[in-house]
Amino acid sequence: MKPNYLNYLIFLVLLAIGPAYGAPAETVHCDFCGKTITGRFFTYSLEDLSVTICMDCDRTLPHCAACKLPYRKNQVVTQRGEVLCRACLARAIYCELCGKRIEGKYYTSKEGDEHFCQKCYLQYPKCMACGKPGPVQHLEGGVGVCAKCLPHLQRCASCGKPITGTYYKFASSDKVYCAECKEHRPQCYACGTPLGKSYWVFQDGRKICPECNSRAIIDERKIRSILDEVRRLAAQRIGLRVETPYAVRVQQLNKTSSEDAAKAKQGESMVSPLFGKELGLYRRMNGISEIFLLYGLPVEMIYETAAHEYTHAWQAENCPPDQSPQLREGFAQWVAGEILKLKGYTQALERLEARDDDPYGTGYQKIKTIERNLGRAALLEYVKTVKS
Ligand SMILES: [Zn+2]
Ligand SMILES: [Zn+2]
Ligand SMILES: [Zn+2]
Ligand SMILES: [Zn+2]
Ligand SMILES: [Zn+2]
Ligand SMILES: [Zn+2]
Ligand SMILES: [Zn+2]
Repeated sequence: MKPNYLNYLIFLVLLAIGPAYGAPAETVHCDFCGKTITGRFFTYSLEDLSVTICMDCDRTLPHCAACKLPYRKNQVVTQRGEVLCRACLARAIYCELCGKRIEGKYYTSKEGDEHFCQKCYLQYPKCMACGKPGPVQHLEGGVGVCAKCLPHLQRCASCGKPITGTYYKFASSDKVYCAECKEHRPQCYACGTPLGKSYWVFQDGRKICPECNSRAIIDERKIRSILDEVRRLAAQRIGLRVETPYAVRVQQLNKTSSEDAAKAKQGESMVSPLFGKELGLYRRMNGISEIFLLYGLPVEMIYETAAHEYTHAWQAENCPPDQSPQLREGFAQWVAGEILKLKGYTQALERLEARDDDPYGTGYQKIKTIERNLGRAALLEYVKTVKS
């Protein structure tokens, strides 16, 4: 808010030149009653206006409370208990808090629609949400919020504190989070949102929010049966059949080191090859095909990962071995998206479609374009033959 000096300046001018007594040297007429003035009279000057008035008129006529000049009765208006001339009424500004007409410095709200006198501005606390001075209700953490903002106040889904500044949303839910929690709270392994006071921890150290945990599949048999279902759907509905047998390995996350995980990926170590943010892996080595799936993911993420890795198994049999990562990962994402669609996991599908990372998000967009332009049948032929 910027102080405005305009009214303050006008007020100063008035004080400097306001009513002066004079004695008639020559014939002077009252500007109001028109009579010749014989005794004392007043002269008012304001900007380029000068008024001469007899003592009688000055006593009986109304004076504008702002500019102090005398006026005829039909030239003034009573507003909020004050008599004002039309010019002063037109530019009068009232304080939102005390209701008084503001003379001197004042403050204007960001939107420009509310004004506050200096006294009120200095005296009242400021609302943390809209920044306006006024009575506030104090919430936890010393946050003061005005009655207008209070019903619209958002609370952080992680720490529960009211959010008055920037807030953050995640694709997985409608909840909002404060900047502090987004930066510093541990995140849910599955959906990425900052964790609240209570969360679950898996054996391998992964933390997961209660919502994701409620849909998480721990049971290895269930995870295997999801992959079997994905295999059936992919064959019947998309036309992807994997002929070579593959082994399914349900794994924990490797929490040792990236070198360890890299060794495991090369088959040089028996620990889990899944590391960091990896959810699954397809590997073909020495003629053996394996699909690795991480346990404890929400059910829709298991379908998505199973479909993605199953596609890699199909690609190993059907596609050029040196195909570009964009085509390879993009098509695996596309199959995952089709499975999510068939299963009715709309939110997970939206999240997959919104990705823009390379090669997964960019590859998916590329495959979608090919599907749009060539059709589904031709898309399968395309990924079987084209390298990039
Ligand atoms: Zn007069
Ligand atoms: Zn006036
Ligand atoms: Zn005020
Ligand atoms: Zn407010
Ligand atoms: Zn928070
Ligand atoms: Zn979660
Ligand atoms: Zn992949």
